[in-house]
Amino acid sequence: MVCVAGPAWPQGAALVLGVGPCAPAGVHLAPAGITVRELIDEYCGGMLDGHTFYAYLPGGASGGILPASMGNIPLDFDTLQPHGCFIGSAAVVVLSDHDSAVAAARNLMHFFRHESCGQCTPCRVGTAKALDLIRRPQWDLPALEDLSAVMRDASICGLGQAAPNPIDCVIRYFPHELQAVPNRPEAQA
Ligand code: SF4
Repeated sequence: MVCVAGPAWPQGAALVLGVGPCAPAGVHLAPAGITVRELIDEYCGGMLDGHTFYAYLPGGASGGILPASMGNIPLDFDTLQPHGCFIGSAAVVVLSDHDSAVAAARNLMHFFRHESCGQCTPCRVGTAKALDLIRRPQWDLPALEDLSAVMRDASICGLGQAAPNPIDCVIRYFPHELQAVPNRPEAQA
């Protein structure tokens, strides 16, 4: 994780916490609507040597995953929905070319499965089934798309409704990783 932006302030500002492999570490105040590229370059000291900006989570665990090529989208309410993402907690997580979106999606679904309270079946069973499906070397895309639709439509609360976001984004924005999964050991996490 390279940088984290806290909840947007009413005055249109956001609290930015620089952590992990970025410099200088610390807490900064950034305007709402800033882009992730500006966050990285102007508030987090840029990417570490040897790392290239590859992808980012614009809104925490459930806000989706976008490629670096879409790093100029203003981070604010209503700017990310057209891309299947949302600002959510405004916790921006940056991935470098040492990471993979597939591995991130597996990690996130593992988190959602653990966090599901189990009250409703689409989320309780759906997160477990989704994790099973995306841990496989080859993703069953029709099954994942059906599962995603059921979880979105039938889960009681936002956790289950948004849990498929990382998977949907991998399918939409990182199809090259799905083709290469069997040859990417780092994507097996
Ligand atoms: S969607 Fe919400 S209520 Fe349903 S199991 Fe998941 S966390 Fe619980």
